[in-house]
Amino acid sequence: MTRKTLIIGNWKMNLTMHEASLYLHKLMEQLPVRRDVEVVVAPTMLTLQSLSLQIKRRIVKLAAQNCYWRDHGPYTGEVPASHLHGMVDYVIIGHSERRHIFMESDKDIRFKVQAALRNRLQPILCIGETAHERTLGETREVLQDQIVNGLANITAEEIDHVVIAYEPVWAIGSGEYAQPSDLAKVLKVIRQQITHLFGKEAAEAVRVVYGGSVSVDNASDYLAVAGLDGLLIGGASLDAYQFTEIVKKAHKE
Ligand code: PEP
Repeated sequence: MTRKTLIIGNWKMNLTMHEASLYLHKLMEQLPVRRDVEVVVAPTMLTLQSLSLQIKRRIVKLAAQNCYWRDHGPYTGEVPASHLHGMVDYVIIGHSERRHIFMESDKDIRFKVQAALRNRLQPILCIGETAHERTLGETREVLQDQIVNGLANITAEEIDHVVIAYEPVWAIGSGEYAQPSDLAKVLKVIRQQITHLFGKEAAEAVRVVYGGSVSVDNASDYLAVAGLDGLLIGGASLDAYQFTEIVKKAHKE
């Protein structure tokens, strides 16, 4: 089974409407149309509708950085997955900033994954251990728990549409990053857990990407890791030139 490489830029709470539009204009000019890499950016919620009219989805797709899991109702300030349908292809769920700053629980994350799938969006489920958990040697258990909790109640068919982003919390925005040579162990834990829950075929179909202080300098090392299907990039994705350079490194054709 061939899995398409996925390069995702998470802009977080950066880039105004005007800046985002200029960025995408540049990106679409610079990026060659190639079929071997899927390029996705996640701008702020407010800009998505307008950007969705600007983008050429053959070149770049959009992701939301979050969504709410109910489809409508009295939930002031929330944006449901049902309203994102048609505007974005992906939605990032369970980013560590949402887990730790906004106190999202496993239940919230599980419901959001289900809401994304119900509304035909592909969830990018972020998982990863904190520095403390890493020191205690609990990485395996943390990842297993986050997978079990995040993917409860979904079917083996639905798992095909899920992307798992391994983002060790200590590596996000810190300049410290997981050694590419250490990722094999983590990939094994993730695919074993998916096999356990959904079977071998599902585990081979699901894409797993890495995120945490990826830069132009270290991207190639990650892209060479067997079984890793791409990257989730925060800081370095804010610069269209750097992001484009990383995408170019991912092209194999
Ligand atoms: C992220 O926010 O998902 C991320 C990986 O950030 P950075 O690349 O800046 O570490």
